[in-house]
Order: sequence, then structure tokens, then C-alpha cells
Amino acid sequence: MRIGVIGGGQLARMMALAAAPLGVRVHALDPAVDACSGEVAPLEVAAFDDLAALHRFADVCAAITFDFENVSAPALRELAAVRPVRPNPLSLATAQDRGSEKALFARIGTGVAPFAIIDDASQIPAAQSTVGFPAILKTRRFGYDGKGQISVADASLLEDAYTRLGQAPCVLETRIGFQRELSIVAVRTQEGELRCYPLVENIHVNGVLSVTLAPAIVSSALVEAAESCASRLAEALDYVGAFAIEFFEVDGQLLANEMAPRVHNSGHWTIEGAVTSQFENHIRAVAGLPLGDTSPRGVSCMLNWIGELPDRNQALSVPGLHWHDYGKSPRAGRKVGHATITANDRAELRRRLKLAAELLGRQAQVEPALARLG
Ligand code: ATP
Ligand code: MG
Repeated sequence: MRIGVIGGGQLARMMALAAAPLGVRVHALDPAVDACSGEVAPLEVAAFDDLAALHRFADVCAAITFDFENVSAPALRELAAVRPVRPNPLSLATAQDRGSEKALFARIGTGVAPFAIIDDASQIPAAQSTVGFPAILKTRRFGYDGKGQISVADASLLEDAYTRLGQAPCVLETRIGFQRELSIVAVRTQEGELRCYPLVENIHVNGVLSVTLAPAIVSSALVEAAESCASRLAEALDYVGAFAIEFFEVDGQLLANEMAPRVHNSGHWTIEGAVTSQFENHIRAVAGLPLGDTSPRGVSCMLNWIGELPDRNQALSVPGLHWHDYGKSPRAGRKVGHATITANDRAELRRRLKLAAELLGRQAQVEPALARLG
């Protein structure tokens, strides 16, 4: 069986690596000739809105999925008429728009930060009076890795921020003083069976994920709240495949930040740290195969490599460290790889992380995770 992935980045690459042992072949489509999934799976080079190319691609695939969110939803809807598209185009379209995403969270009873929609300048005064400051102005569409966002310290700066975002449709959100950022990855089959991975803690730097600690050290009440949100969201969208929900933890409660209708950076630790990885389970769900066990194997910490890779030889000398080079050329702000350090318990994970930080000169990145591990 061949599955077509629209988008040929590191997520498609890791899907292909997970699919191969199942006897499932992944084929990716991306406009970049050097898209990094191309090193491990056949790559079709075409624009994401080239309908003729998308149709040719779909014709040779049993089902279609995607590895990033800025795929054209109308194009996906068209493909859905000829091949199963999993997750469905509704799920993609909902997640693509921060406005409809927040409406969905409200519908399933999950809290979000206070917000106001600003689709044009006439809505600025209402937003100034309803949303608490400091706030963050985010474009409704096409944001990722903290792009398309501007901090707005007080109401008087909103108009300028809106202009700087090109007067695109936006949401204005109160900046939440959260205790922690948590996320959950879950996967749902075509028959509606849902399995959740453990809730994890994420540390972001400049709006980009830096570290994931799995499982998060949290109460069972928070885990239940996150799982219940995942279950209601997946039901509401009739979702098939893996997805993630990012939360802010505020005074023992969860506020949803956003959902990602795909495998997620905060689930990379599952490759070595869970019985079945998010990539394998996503492929299983899309291919109509039974899901694998989402239980953790011990404890894990994932370190994102942003901009450039640290020294590979030093890294590989750390016990329990698993290296992932995405095969991308270095560039400031670009996710070029990650490492997951696994251990049987927190004390062992702490020792391994400390060693990795020293050998790789990544003390600042690793410090928050060490603090959590006590
Ligand atoms: P990604 O693609 O990495 O998920 P994104 O561009 O979709 O990022 P968000 O997830 O909305 O953007 O924001 C990125 C980060 O910025 C969050 O993980 C969080 O650290 C911070 N942030 C965003 N919104 C808020 C908020 N309302 N209050 C406090 N911090 C926030
Ligand atoms: Mg995010």
C-alpha cells in the first residue's frame, strides 16, 4: 500500500521511516526539490495548489495525508472526492484558522485565553476594551513556529501591531501567565477508537519548541482533562490519524492554545520513548491498520536542534541518546534535527541530560528540564 503525504518535511520523513517496516510505502509531494523526506522516500515536486499534479499524485496512492498545515484546504476537498483524505479536510480547515479553532474549543467545553477577532480595523476598539493586556496579536491563518505574531504591551499599541501584520485577519489574545505549557498527542482510527500518549511538558524559546519532557510531572486530574478534550475534539471533527493539542496550565486548569491536525514536534520523543511512535500510529490509522500501544517506555526528554546540529560524535557518546538529523542545511531558526534521551527513571534521565548539556555546550537549553527533574 502507498500513502501520499502532502508536504515533504521532517514529519513526512519520519512517517516514511515508520511506515516501511509495516509494508506501507510513503510518497511525498513538495514544491522544494531538496525537501528532506526525499532522502528516504520518493518525492513528487509540485506546488501545493497545482491541482493537476495533486490528482496525478493521488491516483497512485491508496490514501492521502499531510505533514503541515498550510496545504490548500479546497485542494484537499477536491482530492477527497477521489481518494480517502485522512485527517479529513474539515479538520485541516478548522486548525488553519485560529478563529474557527477557538470556536471549536468553546463548542467542546475547553477554555481558551480571552480573545477577540480582528478581521478589519473597525474591530480594533472592541478588541481593545474586551481583551486584557499585555496581549498577543496573531494572524488567523498561516502562522507557525511563532511566526505571524506580535506582542502588544498595551491597548495603545494595537493599531500599530495590526498594521505590522499587514492588516490580515487576526485574533488578539491576552498573554497568559501560565505555570507550564503541556501538550497531548492522540491518534484515532476510522472506526473511532482513540488512544492518547501521555501528557508532556514543553519549553518554548522565542515561540519555538525547544524541549519536551515526557511524561509531564502532573496530577491525574490534568491528564484526564487533556484526554477528555482530545476525545471530544476528535469526535467533533470525525478525525482520523494523529493530532496534538497544546495547553497552558494556569492554576491547576488547562486552557487550550491550539491544535495541530498532524503528527507534532512534541510527540517526537515517542519514536524511542513509547511502545509505538506517533508516526507509526498515524500511518496505521491512515492505512486502516490496528493501532499500537501508546504507553511510554520509561521517561524521555526531546531536545530540538534549531539552526544547526551540535556535535554528533559527542552526542552519540551519551547513554540513551537517540540522534535525528533531518538532512536539512543549517539556517537560523530552522528545525534541523532533534535528540531524544531515554532512561528508566527520572534520576537516570537527569544524569544523562546533564552529561549531554556539558558535552554539547547546551546548558541553557537543558537547564529548565533539569530543574523539572529535581
Ligand atoms: P507552533 O507552530 O510552534 O505551535 P504557532 O506559530 O502556531 O507555533 P502558538 O502556538 O500560538 O504559535 O504560539 C507559540 C508560543 O508562543 C506558545 O507555545 C507560547 O509559548 C507562546 N504563546 C502563544 N500564545 C500565548 C498566550 N496567549 N499567552 C502566553 N503565551 C503565548
Ligand atoms: Mg503552537
